[in-house]
Amino acid sequence: MEGLISTIQGYSLRDGPGIRSTVFTMGCALRCQYCSNPELLEMKIRTMELNNTSTRVGKWISSEELAKKLFKDKIFYTESKGGVTFSGGECLLQSDFVYETAKLLKEEDISIAIDTSLYVPRQNIEKVLPVVDLFLVDIKAIDDTLHQKVTSQSNRLILENLMWLKTQPVELWIRLVLVGNLNDDLEDVKKRFNFIQELGQSVTRVDVLCYHNLGLSKYKGLNMTCSLSNDAFITKEYLHKLKTLIARYDFDIRIEGEE
Ligand code: SF4
Repeated sequence: MEGLISTIQGYSLRDGPGIRSTVFTMGCALRCQYCSNPELLEMKIRTMELNNTSTRVGKWISSEELAKKLFKDKIFYTESKGGVTFSGGECLLQSDFVYETAKLLKEEDISIAIDTSLYVPRQNIEKVLPVVDLFLVDIKAIDDTLHQKVTSQSNRLILENLMWLKTQPVELWIRLVLVGNLNDDLEDVKKRFNFIQELGQSVTRVDVLCYHNLGLSKYKGLNMTCSLSNDAFITKEYLHKLKTLIARYDFDIRIEGEE
């Protein structure tokens, strides 16, 4: 079975517990205004111009070949209680490929995480579930109109999938990416935390990620336009209010990217 991926990032400390290898797959059905990986949105091989150099993005690879590459760092996964994370793009658009690869890794006792928007049919999640230990899921907005503005799509499928996932024997880390003047309305953020509370014990960690503009040069290199304004950064004043809100909740919430 072959899948379309862009890169494998080794020694990652951000995409789940311990030291991990993160596989970035191609293709995503959402169009988040703040997406920092615009080169991964289309399910096809692309060319990106960066620093006057043309870079080819995307390559087809078999599950066996990918698993073999990932096995090489098994010692780091084992020593650090880490593993492999499938990310993207939206890795669950290629759920058969992810399943086939993850199955080979599980046979070697390697822990598997899936970084997903959950904007996929339920059967794609069911496919990978037997080989997954942890799901990392973004909640981008609770208000559906706001969600459509942020991502171009309704959040109904995502929230339904999350409510279903909480009934499954799997751990959940929830991520809230906050973008100034886009999805930072504190009323909606409060609703996101309340929704997380409803997910109960499955959620073992919540990460608040403040917007960064590291992906901006890629938009230029792909002849794409990033529609975010210059005031998308999260301010200290905002963070102060956010921390007051967070104090009301008793789950493990961490803030990343404070200025
Ligand atoms: S879900 Fe992720 S990859 Fe897809 S558009 Fe949003 S930020 Fe980008």
